Order: sequence, then structure tokens, then C-alpha cells
Amino acid sequence: MDLPALDTDALQLFVFGPGMGELVAIRAPPNHWLVMDGCSVGGRHYGQQLMDHYGAVPSLIILTHPHLDHAKGVSEVIDAATSDTEPKDWPRIGLVWSTHETRDDLTCLTRYYDGAVSEQAISAIFDRWERFPACRLELRQGEVIALGEARVKVLAPAPGARTQAFQRWSAGKAFDANCISTVLQVEWEGVRLVLGSDMVENPGQGWSNVLAFDSNVPRHAALKVAHHGSTDAQHPELLKRSSPTDEPFWLITPFANQKLPRFQPGEGVALLLDHVSKVHLTGIPRSFGKQGLMPRGYRLAELQSPAHSMDRSPSLTGFPDCMVALSWSRSGGPPTVHSGRGSITVER
Ligand SMILES: [Zn+2]
Repeated sequence: MDLPALDTDALQLFVFGPGMGELVAIRAPPNHWLVMDGCSVGGRHYGQQLMDHYGAVPSLIILTHPHLDHAKGVSEVIDAATSDTEPKDWPRIGLVWSTHETRDDLTCLTRYYDGAVSEQAISAIFDRWERFPACRLELRQGEVIALGEARVKVLAPAPGARTQAFQRWSAGKAFDANCISTVLQVEWEGVRLVLGSDMVENPGQGWSNVLAFDSNVPRHAALKVAHHGSTDAQHPELLKRSSPTDEPFWLITPFANQKLPRFQPGEGVALLLDHVSKVHLTGIPRSFGKQGLMPRGYRLAELQSPAHSMDRSPSLTGFPDCMVALSWSRSGGPPTVHSGRGSITVER
């Protein structure tokens, strides 16, 4: 199987994004897993397949926001981690939600979820919260959660944004759930990873708030770039490098339906490449059936041309493709990079 070996003494980050969907998983020593969001291809859920492959059970499961491209397969991971297990041994399960009520709030969900998949994920979360309230993670800004030897810190959403969202939803009004996406920082042995979910700067100034809350956020070893690399999700201060030698790993998941990320001058990927020499994408922003098979490198100009050529055959077949994994060892130094099938790198 095209997956890296586990390294018991390393911090490992896995990012999957097959065309539409995003799964982020972290394995921290000694053997603790965080599963954040999910993605599926052909009814097969990458989150649970990843857990099955490594024989792992997550300690933390987080749905950053219940949009369809993040909610896929989350309920399956929750089901597998909580069936045949005493509630006291369940993982902690996080979702940004309004109050201590859960079931009663389902009425205002009409504004919050988009479809049966998200409803299924939220229902699974509410069910476990009701059965064992101690498993609930409220994901308050500043909350720190242990993940084995690593520390997971909630950087967003800000309290004001979450209050505003739930006021609007309970009044039956629209509010963009991206603005209350959960942003996490994972820290282990001086390695800092920032997982940006779909937090945007515009609207809502979500990243300005994160930077005001924690000014160390730009000093990261890796960033799961927010919102599929959309231009509105980038903040110049987050992208600023303190020195040319501290080049971080920036990972982007595509969202084909929205043609994200974009490559034209001034847009997403071009903007990011003003600050680093290379970015990693888990796939091309095209449907799953149109991904290239082998990992490959592109020049930005190739992707800017409307008719850029790409390897189209044979096509991908599903998990574990459209993936990039990074592994940091305790002894320090740059991470080991595993570029899965279908992933690409882009350089100027
Ligand atoms: Zn998304």
C-alpha cells in the first residue's frame, strides 16, 4: 500500500484531498491519533481506511465545520471508535457548537449543514455527547488538548464569531460556516503545525483574529493551507517568512467544483509562491477521474495555461491516493516527505 511506515518516535501528518474532500490526520508519539474531517471516493471513507491500515483508534476526532467536503466519513470514524468500547474509553469528539444543548438545536441546523452527509456526522457527534458528555470537546479558542506527547491548541474560531454564527442561525439567517472553522496548532518537540481547515480572512477577518490571538502562528514547520488555497483565505502576515532558510511545508487540498486552488497571478497558489519556493497539493483541482496517477512536479506557468497537458491514464482507483504525508523525527531536521499517487508540487 502506498503509505509511509509508522515511525514510533516521530510526529506524522497525513493530508488527503481527492478532488472534493479533506482529511487531516496526525499521529503523535507514543501512538496517539487525531482525525480531523474526512473525504470519500466511491462510498469508501478515507478516514476509517487510514485507521484500519495502521490498526489505529483515534484519541481525538474533530469536525472543523460541517460542510459536505469535510464531513464525509466522519460518522464512520466515530462509529468504529465508539462501538464495542466503554464510553470512558471513547475518543474526545469536537465540533464548534452553540450551547450545552445539542438535540434541541437541531432545528437551527437547516442553516448549518448542507445535506445528509453533514447531518449524519453531526447526529453521530450529538449522540455521543449525550451518551457521555465528558467526550465533548467544545473547541474554545485557547483550549489545549493533549495528544500523546503533543499539544493541540485551538486557535479559532474566536468567541465573537461563534456567538454571531449561532445568533444568526437561530434567527433563521445565513452565516458562512467557513468563518467558524476550527483552526488547530499541533506542537511536539519544538515542531509547530498549523491546520487551517476552511478558515477565511474575507469575510470575517478570521486570520487577523488568529494572528492577534497568537503571534507565533507564522513560525510553523507546516501549514495545511486554509480553504483549499482560496485567495480570500490567505493573510499576508501568516505567509511572511522570518528568514529565507526557514522554508515551511505548505499543503493544499483541491476543491474541484469551486476550481480551487487557482494559479493565475495574484490568486491562491501564485500568492503563496511569492513566499516559498514550492507548495504541495494533494491533487489537481479537477474531478477524481481526471487526476494524474503518478506524483509529479509542475511549474506555475504550466498550470496557468488553459490547455496544460497532464498524465490522464491510467487513472486513480481510490484510497490511499491524493495524499501527502510528512514525518518529523525527534532528532530534528527537515521532515521526510511521502508524496502519494495523484499529488503534485508546484514551483515558480
Ligand atoms: Zn472545504
